[in-house]
Amino acid sequence: MLYIVSTPIGNLQDITLRALETLRNVDFVVCEDTRVTSFLLHHFEIKKELVSMNAFSEKNKLNFIADRIESGSSCALVSDAGTPGISDPGVRLISELIKRNINVIPIPGVSAAITALSIAGLPTDSFVFEGFLPQKKGRQKKLQNLLTEDRTIILYESTYRIKKLLDELTNYTPERLIVVCRELTKKFEEIVRGFPQEIHLYFEKKEPKGEFVVIISPISWKHDSVNSHLHIEQ
Ligand code: SAM
Repeated sequence: MLYIVSTPIGNLQDITLRALETLRNVDFVVCEDTRVTSFLLHHFEIKKELVSMNAFSEKNKLNFIADRIESGSSCALVSDAGTPGISDPGVRLISELIKRNINVIPIPGVSAAITALSIAGLPTDSFVFEGFLPQKKGRQKKLQNLLTEDRTIILYESTYRIKKLLDELTNYTPERLIVVCRELTKKFEEIVRGFPQEIHLYFEKKEPKGEFVVIISPISWKHDSVNSHLHIEQ
């Protein structure tokens, strides 16, 4: 068995009872960064063998991990935060196990994308999750194509490129309402709603730090204000 175990994206109380039970019961845990997962397991007083597997090593470690599971060991896959495989390693391992007829069991929990979408106040019946835009090559084209969508768009962005993304959105789609979710579930959680330029100006004054999810309204979404829409929840 391979269990795909979601872990918190900040607040450790967001772990589920099933996640804890699974982590306690498996033979070993595959994780991205052993320091991050050791911290989590130590917090919940769980001692377990950890095997690291990140985006760079997934291909090489695939057979070693799959062989161990096939020979009878149970394994939990976790990522540094949130749901494994969602803009994180895991997909290759899962597909290898499916090929080998081994059961892959979800232990669901938090994902930053859905957490942000749940408070965006934008349509949720249909949405596009794009994860991270390319850092350089193809970035502009991909973003411009995405912006033709008439569905809510969810993007992940890093501290280093959030201002760049806000600048791009100001240029390409200045009247689109967006929601920037920073440090969700953590001490400095902040939700900033408004037009790209006003949010950009806000983060010019206050240096953006931490992790970000950016939600963009569908192209035909009608907002009720044409003036400043900046709204900050801290
Ligand atoms: N697998 C994870 C999930 O299910 O959410 C996502 C992993 S991806 C490598 C990390 C990105 O998720 C961050 O750069 C950020 O865009 C987003 N993210 C993760 N935790 C977050 C948080 N607490 N607040 C806002 N965004 C977060």
